[in-house]
Amino acid sequence: MSLLDNVKVFFDQAAKKMAIDDHVRQMLEEPDRIIEVKIPGTENGKPKVFRGYRVQHNNARGPYKGGLRYHPTVEMDEVVALAGLMTWKCSLLNVPYGGGKGGISCDPTKMTRQELEAISRAFIRQLMPNIGPTVDVPAPDVNTDGQIMAWMVDEATQIAGESMLPLLTGKPVSMGGSLGRTESTGYGVARVGVEALKKIGIEPKDATAAVQGFGKVGGWTAARLYKMGVKVVAVSDISGGYYCKDGINIEDLMKYTATSKGHLIEGFSAPGLTKISNDELLTLDVDLLCPCAMENQIDPGVAKRVRAKVISEGANGPVTADGDAVLTERGIVVIPDILANAGGVTVSYFEWVQNFQHISWTFDEVINKMDSMMVNCLNDVWEVSQKEKCSLRTAAFILSITRVIEAMKLTGKI
Ligand code: GLU
Repeated sequence: MSLLDNVKVFFDQAAKKMAIDDHVRQMLEEPDRIIEVKIPGTENGKPKVFRGYRVQHNNARGPYKGGLRYHPTVEMDEVVALAGLMTWKCSLLNVPYGGGKGGISCDPTKMTRQELEAISRAFIRQLMPNIGPTVDVPAPDVNTDGQIMAWMVDEATQIAGESMLPLLTGKPVSMGGSLGRTESTGYGVARVGVEALKKIGIEPKDATAAVQGFGKVGGWTAARLYKMGVKVVAVSDISGGYYCKDGINIEDLMKYTATSKGHLIEGFSAPGLTKISNDELLTLDVDLLCPCAMENQIDPGVAKRVRAKVISEGANGPVTADGDAVLTERGIVVIPDILANAGGVTVSYFEWVQNFQHISWTFDEVINKMDSMMVNCLNDVWEVSQKEKCSLRTAAFILSITRVIEAMKLTGKI
């Protein structure tokens, strides 16, 4: 099943409980606008025409908001699904945004820095007529980062003839970015993961964890878990995985990946470290599992063998709909992506607010505020799931859909 099919199932599970009628359901599920653009560029010196997308899903609660990803698997349906998830994520955290997502179908590993800069600038030029600081605010996602945001802000500023800092979030700190934005997504994944463990009676100092993905999300998830006293026994990325029953020193690993080839964990060495496969990592006997890589990692075949007690979804859509049914049936607590990884967009919101106010908050101000919003949100979702006797995912969708319906009713759209 595609990510779009999975998101439809998750949405429908909540819609059924809420008894939403068909017309409203269609208004909520279908995106407001789909933009597809042609981007001329080069790959490894050879001219190539790339496809770029921006999907504006819903803006009932505020400007469209969501990242831009660069990956060979990017295609329209995937972007539509991810844009929808952003609507539900922003509503759930109660940040004043709607949802959007975009991306380019390309393989950044085959491109030089200059080639990436050229397609990034060309992409934002194409999107400019349809986006804006109070219209649609993109950010980083898979394979995009502060450098790419910096090129895009510069391009947009040149076109507009005025500062376009609030047009994009996830910028480098020296160019209007917020302290804590880099760490935010992973820090949030770890924080709500630990909070859920506490709810089922496991203290961080007694807990073990496995983290899939060691990039922008997984790396900071592992780092914070380590800081909170959780024993991180396994990590992985596209180069492979490592296991150590006594726990991996994540500070050392972060130092290693800061300068390693492609920032990969490959080649890291420490006493007691053994290699493990992706499948082994996902099915390890740990308390907390954080899938922070790509979508569709935990299908029914994996879900049947998962031994973690809590899953905190760092990636968007790492558990398939039928995998989710198995996990729910088995009583495994799954903190859904729209809550677990919402620290990123929450701090994007703080960045945007700081840009408009021409001020900057400290790192601690940012992370403390994010933490309290996420922990409160987890508590609310937990309460709804107990009241409605449903999974945390369905509870999260119920809360966020309710808010979007309220806004759409107020404007007469439904
Ligand atoms: N790409 C991130 C996400 O999926 C962050 C989006 C943002 O900051 O706008 O939530």
